[in-house]
Amino acid sequence: MSQPVSHFIAGASVQDAAGSKSFEVSNPATGAPLGLVPMSSTEIADQAVAAAAKAFETWSEVPVGDRVQCLFRYKQILEDNINDIADIVVDEHGKTKAEAIGSLRRGIDCIEFATAAPALIMGRTLPQIAVSTSFCRTEDQGGVGIDSQVDRVPIGVCVGITPFNFPVMVPMWMWPMAIACGNTFVLKPSERDPFSTMREVELTRDAGFPPGVLNLVHGGPDVANRLITHPDVAAVSFVGSTGAGEHIYKTGCAHGKRVQCMCGAKNHSIIMPDANQGAAVDGIVGSAFGNTGQRCLAGSVVVCVGDSGDWLVKGVTEKAKAIKIGPGNQEGVGMGPLVSKDAQDRVLKYIDAGAKEGAKLVLDGRAADMPAKGCFVGPTIFDNCTSDMSIVREEIFGPVLSIMRVKTLEDAVDAVNKSEYGNMSVIFTDSGHAARRFQRTAQAGMLGVNVGVPAPMAAFPFAGWGRSFFGDLHANGEDGMRFFTKSRVMVTRWL
Ligand code: NAD
Repeated sequence: MSQPVSHFIAGASVQDAAGSKSFEVSNPATGAPLGLVPMSSTEIADQAVAAAAKAFETWSEVPVGDRVQCLFRYKQILEDNINDIADIVVDEHGKTKAEAIGSLRRGIDCIEFATAAPALIMGRTLPQIAVSTSFCRTEDQGGVGIDSQVDRVPIGVCVGITPFNFPVMVPMWMWPMAIACGNTFVLKPSERDPFSTMREVELTRDAGFPPGVLNLVHGGPDVANRLITHPDVAAVSFVGSTGAGEHIYKTGCAHGKRVQCMCGAKNHSIIMPDANQGAAVDGIVGSAFGNTGQRCLAGSVVVCVGDSGDWLVKGVTEKAKAIKIGPGNQEGVGMGPLVSKDAQDRVLKYIDAGAKEGAKLVLDGRAADMPAKGCFVGPTIFDNCTSDMSIVREEIFGPVLSIMRVKTLEDAVDAVNKSEYGNMSVIFTDSGHAARRFQRTAQAGMLGVNVGVPAPMAAFPFAGWGRSFFGDLHANGEDGMRFFTKSRVMVTRWL
């Protein structure tokens, strides 16, 4: 029996009125109901922003060294609860336990990085930028010295709107740094798997964050759209699909907000004939089928140069066939289900489309050995794909790998650059020259050499180019700190 789910506002659980609309979330591996997520009216957004705005008055005045103490305590609480939270992620999202733990570890990296806020937000000074002689010349110095400094200060109430595919990690790209910098935060997680996000937020209570510093509201586009246009919101950080992200960027900017939107992707990996074959095969399998292909960094297109396609297709197909498919909490399972029935239908539609468009279906995920019940699709591989096919152009967000064959590195980089996205791209090669050519010419925000998933650690910025990103400052790293602060310049003269 599904239970209603609460919002978290000003440190307390808040329920929607009985009878309001809700969205039923179930375990994608078993179909077991997990809860009824409120699809609230916009008043809940107003309530959360009001709580965050009130908390900002005092939180922004707390010394940064004291603010990060809450994060130090919170990190330990997360470490103590990592197993339980990972189990929630497995149940609601379908990841394997190892994938869930891995994603939590990446979230914890973000907490650790945010504890460096005292060093990160430190200002800069330039003494003696000029000497003023007009009003007050002192006898010994020939004038009065003028100094200048720049500080970084919090911007106010910040909003985060997050996707289903990393329900714990992606929110941690946002709120720890925002809060460490002195802001307060309202998070709207994906309606499709919000239970682990709720646990993440509720645990902040035990870390000593004052009420209202971090709030969570549930809902769909209505609640998100109220948050991004609310007059008391200063900044919006979004992660999700390109369609929603472009809308949020345009709407948020039109309402005077600072906005960053990390969006969809169709990532191409290049295989050179001189690549280490074992490393390339392992890297491609992990990148294309890890997290059941539901990753913005999934390498879902491979461009094989010369004869590399022959060994790559053979190796990847053998490895993919060996992946055990099943519920993420079962021993030995390497690939869980897709997040929902809708996601499963969408992937199946693309498999039909690929076959109709003339690609060669080398491995058919519909025929894989997998549980009959649940939202499963096995690893699927198409060979002989071309840039105009929908399975090469569009984000499928499932375990479907499209392989193209070209003659030269230049052809391969052209294929990378034809994509309207530009999140990540990688090359597998033994040639420094080829790697350097790739690095200089491939148009993507995150590049890798001989790695399948070039995920930046928390200290580095995370975002793509093209239609994978709308905004200026990327998530994480120093960019993250800059996004959540504004600069204030002072010019000082003492007469
Ligand atoms: P989604 O766009 O459907 O939803 C993301 C969030 O936006 C949810 O909270 C949702 O409620 C909200 N939303 C959806 N439509 C909206 C609208 N019209 N107006 C306002 N809010 C709206 O994305 P998803 O399916 O949950 O996540 C998968 C997508 O996220 C993929 O495209 C993936 O590539 C992308 N993603 C990108 C990155 C990155 O760093 N670039 C990271 C993770 C996921």
